[in-house]
Amino acid sequence: MSVFEFQIVHRLNNVLKRKEVYMTTTSKHPETIAVHGGNYRKDESTNSVAVPIYQTTSYQFNNQEHASNLFSLKELGNIYTRIMNPTTAVLEERMAQLEGGLAALAVSSGQAASAFAIQNLCQAGDNIVSSTDLYGGTWNQFANTFKQLGIEVRFADPKDPKSFLKLTDDKTRAYYAETLPNPKLDVFPIEEVASIGLKIGIPLIVDNTAAPITCKPLKHGAAIVVHSLTKWIGGHGTSIGGVIIDGGNFDWTQFPERHPLFNKPDPSYWGWILGKVVPEVLGANITFAVRARFVILRDLGSALSPTNAFNFIQGLETLPLRFKQHQDNAEKVAEYLKSRKNVNRVIFPKFKESLYKERTDKYLKNGYGPLVGFELEGGLEAGKEFINNLKLIYHVANIGDARTLAIHPASTTHSQLSVEDQLKAGVTPGYIRLSVGIEHIDDIVEDIEQALKASDNIIKNVA
Ligand code: PLP
Repeated sequence: MSVFEFQIVHRLNNVLKRKEVYMTTTSKHPETIAVHGGNYRKDESTNSVAVPIYQTTSYQFNNQEHASNLFSLKELGNIYTRIMNPTTAVLEERMAQLEGGLAALAVSSGQAASAFAIQNLCQAGDNIVSSTDLYGGTWNQFANTFKQLGIEVRFADPKDPKSFLKLTDDKTRAYYAETLPNPKLDVFPIEEVASIGLKIGIPLIVDNTAAPITCKPLKHGAAIVVHSLTKWIGGHGTSIGGVIIDGGNFDWTQFPERHPLFNKPDPSYWGWILGKVVPEVLGANITFAVRARFVILRDLGSALSPTNAFNFIQGLETLPLRFKQHQDNAEKVAEYLKSRKNVNRVIFPKFKESLYKERTDKYLKNGYGPLVGFELEGGLEAGKEFINNLKLIYHVANIGDARTLAIHPASTTHSQLSVEDQLKAGVTPGYIRLSVGIEHIDDIVEDIEQALKASDNIIKNVA
């Protein structure tokens, strides 16, 4: 270690000296983690059991020396809510524990989570390889906005894991995919693609929004997990948020040329080589999370509001219970649709065949997920009629609410894609997506049945 590096490490040691880190539970059960996870038992100043909402932008410094120490990172503590907040910290710790990761960073939306995860690794001129099977908003972010920023996203067909390798070159910094991408609902081969990347220093980032609890991507070799908290984690449909979870299982220094942002001096932190300094000083391989917070969030903003962090903590507490009911109901809806006339095709992981059945069986061990897709015999017109006749079910551009939600992706969430790109993402003109809620199953099916009857008329009229 050079003298310079020694000084840096010494300085960080003073700075980031870890508070006694303890988990209030070491349980591996999601039901317990969702309620007790992270480093919170009670509020230290009030003994409040519920996590308080620290709705503050800033934190009073004890004196000038304290302020100066915080800024020069000689001491660790709250400075400004754009970068850290005690309410948000509890959410971050719980989410990290739930996914089996080491650290997490909450941000203002799921979109910000995917953007930050990639910006934490890429500079202009770099590229990532992503699965084609993506949420429409992520597709736009990758294909257009990142392109404008000089970061190329190459799209690989997840059917063949080797397609990721074929698109890889020296400038490839990450692989990206969704565990259970809608609308196709073809489960992604996490381990197969992660293991390709591991051999050449490329981390797999997985958007696990649609499969919390059901799938643990980090266990299958993914390095980073992102979630839109807006969906099932919240469950109430009141708040927008996202989170990035660092698995702590990826060696950022093994292939230094692959990750210059972690292996070259950081100009905004006194020339520290973060990939070395962070694990040495913190004793934990959480370089990705540290850089995402102290460089990307610091510079680009997109912080989560403390009130929304609180809202997500409330949602998270009941996630395991709710998700079970979502999945049970989704399975019953899918079975019902399968037996219904004028429904041409039901898209649901349980009904997948051959390769996709194998992937469903391997990665979705605790249920088939909460999303169901189907195509009506009457195509686009029947789809519109179905949507317009729903009474109980909401017609909204969201998934993961406690209520059952329906949408026609071709004319809404995926409408900004070309028809060709829509088809690549699995969106056919007559496709309807249901995010099945936690209402009584009889009421959900009754509403679907009456709306289907209305759409049956379209076919009769054509005939
Ligand atoms: N990832 C997935 C799988 C999504 O479905 C969504 C939104 O629908 C997002 C990310 C973006 O999340 P947000 O709306 O919180 O920005």
